Amino acid sequence: MAAKQLKCRECGTEYPLEARYVCSRCFGPLEVGYDHERLADVGEVRRRIQGGPQNMWRYHDFLPLAGPQPRMRTGLPAGCTPLIRADRLAERLGLREVWVKNDAANPTHSFKDRVVSVAATRARELGFDTLACASTGNLANSVAAHGAALGMASYVLIPADLEEQKVLATGVYGTNLVKVRGNYDDVNRLCTELSGDRENWAFVNINMRPYYAEGSKTVAYEIAEQLGWELPDRVVVPIASGSLFTKIGKGFAEFIDVGLIDGEVPTMNGAQATGCSPVATAFRDGQDFCRPVKPHTIAKSLAIGNPADGPYALDLARATGGSIDSVNDQEIRAGIRLLAETTGVFTETAGGVTTAVLQKLAETGAIDREERVVIVITGEGLKTLDAVRHSFIDYEVDPTIESFEEAFAESVTV
Ligand SMILES: *Cc1c(COP(=O)(O)O)cnc(C)c1O
Ligand SMILES: [Zn+2]
Repeated sequence: MAAKQLKCRECGTEYPLEARYVCSRCFGPLEVGYDHERLADVGEVRRRIQGGPQNMWRYHDFLPLAGPQPRMRTGLPAGCTPLIRADRLAERLGLREVWVKNDAANPTHSFKDRVVSVAATRARELGFDTLACASTGNLANSVAAHGAALGMASYVLIPADLEEQKVLATGVYGTNLVKVRGNYDDVNRLCTELSGDRENWAFVNINMRPYYAEGSKTVAYEIAEQLGWELPDRVVVPIASGSLFTKIGKGFAEFIDVGLIDGEVPTMNGAQATGCSPVATAFRDGQDFCRPVKPHTIAKSLAIGNPADGPYALDLARATGGSIDSVNDQEIRAGIRLLAETTGVFTETAGGVTTAVLQKLAETGAIDREERVVIVITGEGLKTLDAVRHSFIDYEVDPTIESFEEAFAESVTV
């Protein structure tokens, strides 16, 4: 496989490709390192991608999995989601070219299927029999579904106050669903403790985190391939732990590095909810570290008060000339409606955050009119229905022409 080792992001110490996530020397996070020299024949690499399956396994050369054969792979292939040109949204915002990467179009309707596909496949390769996770909602759906598809047991731990749609769309897969009386950071702490003595459990975002994180790179690969092997100028991405945001940066950098695309990593804009915005706050204050917060926002999928990849997200935003901004609950609701009304894409609260931050960047003049901008829509609107309740009017009529006309006659005078 192209992956060579796990490597500490802080001190560079190398480890074998096993279930391990912190450096035992400096406690820094581990990341997968690759030997891309094998990929010197760019034409051949591109042909392998284009001849691959219509899912994220077409980027096998860039993922930390053994063997080119899909024998161990999950039965729920993620990826190859639509990239839609959104001219009506662009026009509304006074921009020329805006694209929507609709990652709600995954098996369990969020981008989390990408990270779970890699983590679950690697977990099998390493001999684990049980999948587990600490989740803000979408990860729960995906881990439960992948466990079902692979015939692995699963334990899914969530904050007890999660949206009902996300709870139902998890339990249906026959997982061990555990509601923890606390917020996500409490759930994560509990899972970190549990992972210490559950030896055959692969916690996808804890002991499998280095592999999990690699799945997010495929969003960048797809954007580049779908734009005809070209780069956008700017990408707007929501931030919870900061993993997706930083790995999209890594994905573009790798494609540039091996020569599949020309140019530089796009300007990277992170999007947070004001009610849980430790990374946006650190960005604004010029800090290198994020001060943990207690989340209070309708964007529950982004409600991580102590973001593991916060410092790396800050680095990436600064290095690419981007920023990390936040929007409040009212703006999030309006963002959901704006995207729906101009593109036909109905997103969950996280997508409302992303769209509202795009709008803010457009209005403040941070985006040049001529730029090619991509927004990453990470989840499905049907999972957070409360966010749009009472945001529009409807009409109830008797089944007669008179009643129909009466309803609309009245609405004109309102
Ligand atoms: C998990 C999640 C994110 C961001 O996750 P990171 O922890 O920053 O990688 C964004 N959107 C949705 C809908 C999510 O579920
Ligand atoms: Zn280290």
